[in-house]
Amino acid sequence: MLELQDIPARNARILATLRDSREPLPSPNAVALELMRLVERRDVGVFEVCRVAKGDPVLVGKAVRLANSALYAGLRPTAALEDAVMRIGVAALARLAVGLSLVHSHGARLGGLELEPYWRRSLARALLLQQLARRRHALPVSEAFSLGLLAEIGQLGMLAALGAQALGDAQTGEDLPGWQRRRWGFDQSEASAALLQAWNFPQRLWLALLPLAQAQQAQAELTAMVGVSRGLAAALEGHRRLEDLPDLWMAALHLGLDEAVLLGLLDQVREDFAELAGVLDLPVSQQHAQEEFQRLRRSLSEASPEDSAQAACVLLAGALPCGRADLVEALRAEGFNVLLEPDLEAGFERARSSLPEAVVLDADQLPIEAVELCRQLREHDSARLYLLLLGDSLDAEGLLEALRGGANDVLPGAAPAPMVAAKLRPGVRVVRMIRALERERAQAHGRQRELAALNARLREAAYSDELTGLPNRRALDEFLARAWEDALARGTPLSCVLLDLDHFKRINDTHGHEIGDRVLRAVARTLQRHSRSDDLLARWGGEELVLACPGVQPDMAAVLAERMRAAVQGMQEGLPEVTLSAGVAQAAAGDADAVAGMLRAADRALLRAKREGRNRIIVADAQGAS
Ligand code: GH3
Ligand code: MG
Ligand code: MG
Repeated sequence: MLELQDIPARNARILATLRDSREPLPSPNAVALELMRLVERRDVGVFEVCRVAKGDPVLVGKAVRLANSALYAGLRPTAALEDAVMRIGVAALARLAVGLSLVHSHGARLGGLELEPYWRRSLARALLLQQLARRRHALPVSEAFSLGLLAEIGQLGMLAALGAQALGDAQTGEDLPGWQRRRWGFDQSEASAALLQAWNFPQRLWLALLPLAQAQQAQAELTAMVGVSRGLAAALEGHRRLEDLPDLWMAALHLGLDEAVLLGLLDQVREDFAELAGVLDLPVSQQHAQEEFQRLRRSLSEASPEDSAQAACVLLAGALPCGRADLVEALRAEGFNVLLEPDLEAGFERARSSLPEAVVLDADQLPIEAVELCRQLREHDSARLYLLLLGDSLDAEGLLEALRGGANDVLPGAAPAPMVAAKLRPGVRVVRMIRALERERAQAHGRQRELAALNARLREAAYSDELTGLPNRRALDEFLARAWEDALARGTPLSCVLLDLDHFKRINDTHGHEIGDRVLRAVARTLQRHSRSDDLLARWGGEELVLACPGVQPDMAAVLAERMRAAVQGMQEGLPEVTLSAGVAQAAAGDADAVAGMLRAADRALLRAKREGRNRIIVADAQGAS
């Protein structure tokens, strides 16, 4: 686990190691880097960005294709770069350019690694993360796409710098990141984060690649999403042992993804895969891709946590238990699904996220607060965990403390493997019984899986509006708060558009409330189709909607609003005609409550639009008056 304050120095150290390299490090091309520098600037405009982007015709072609691809499904096709940039967003375009310019920049192989499968895996990860982000409104789709695409760029960095040995003896079954950390002091995810920071990616994105000690909830959730997309993408290419799938399942369940959702996600990615592979010029045999997806789909179904016949899971955490090959072998022979996490702290994290039935902890590595750690683990999962300490360093008092803290047993470091297994067997049986009881109890309300799905739906419902399916006010508030933090940190603008249907009361009065509802739904669909992926369209309440536009000046937001106004006016759904008015405003850095101030200013501008005859857009002036 990493502490936030240590990370900048750590990233600098990693970069220094990587830069001292044998082969050129993976590096975005000049145009991509220039774009990243440009978007750091507060006042950069679409046309300037386009002028720079046109320095790389291949990039232009790809950006336009991307803007027309399934990523932005529902929007009308565009041929102009300016349009594509409006759609993707200036900052997101720059980060996409980084990703796009890296694919193929190294030829076919690097330090023994075949690059085509590497990029195919990266693309699958990008699409998966983008789907997850879209479900959870966690990140704009294009940002999720770039982050997914580059989440393991550190692997290429390490290969270039350290040669083939960067991939170590991963084939021996030991986990690669743990091995890398012991050998070089950092692993490929940490290298990825350091590279993304060096290329000016925002902190929130690259932090999601790291296990942070005290991540805020939104950040931790993003990290979990990256983890799930990583695991799935690796499994897709056969890079992940299938026995690790239960682990993946558990992480997915924690994100509220039940079997149906997860498999649906996979199907969606399978559909988009070939098209996006085309954009990136990656060769894929359609049939091969289909087969891979089918294979993973089957394995996932089989590994579903509902399957009670599935092997019990034992997590070995810390150097001592992980180093005992005899123990690993004996436990596997017993039919346990054995997870290895040589890094003790990472082990704690994994115990929390993947819910093994038993954990064997390295007692010799435990810090003084061992008891406290045991207690935390225990509290997290109460009785549903068998906790065994292995080691020789605890004295009688320490031993007693550990047991009080929640350890079930303590054995000497050299305890024979059969003895450890003999302790674990009944322990695991009890844990499974407790879990089965809990499941049974849950079955009174339906099956556990349905509960997880219900939970996810509830959580989603809390953030979306029932009538239109749009994010609701709560989602908007959270989005704006986060967007404003970002804007302040990066010195970029934040604008919003407050949209209100004109004379909507009349529609209700003339045609009835039900038709009114249908008009509202149709308007929401139309607006959604015309909004960019980086923006958030939410129902503010009644017949009022808000479009939040991070990174956008009010004049540009007004252009977006004008498109929406025209689209609503032109709607042909066989419903009563309707128009809308809108007020546009920008958050002001000096304002103590800038988001609320922006919304008030937008409301005043809206009022003026109404007074001036409706069916129009008014931009608040710089002071927020109008
Ligand atoms: P204007 O904004 O142009 O000044 O006129 P208006 O008639 O739209 O304004 P007002 O705010 O007076 O009325 C808004 C109406 O929207 C009142 C309410 O009946 C209707 N409304 C709000 N929410 C819903 C909804 O969910 N469904 C339906 N059918 N109507 C709604
Ligand atoms: Mg109103
Ligand atoms: Mg109205």
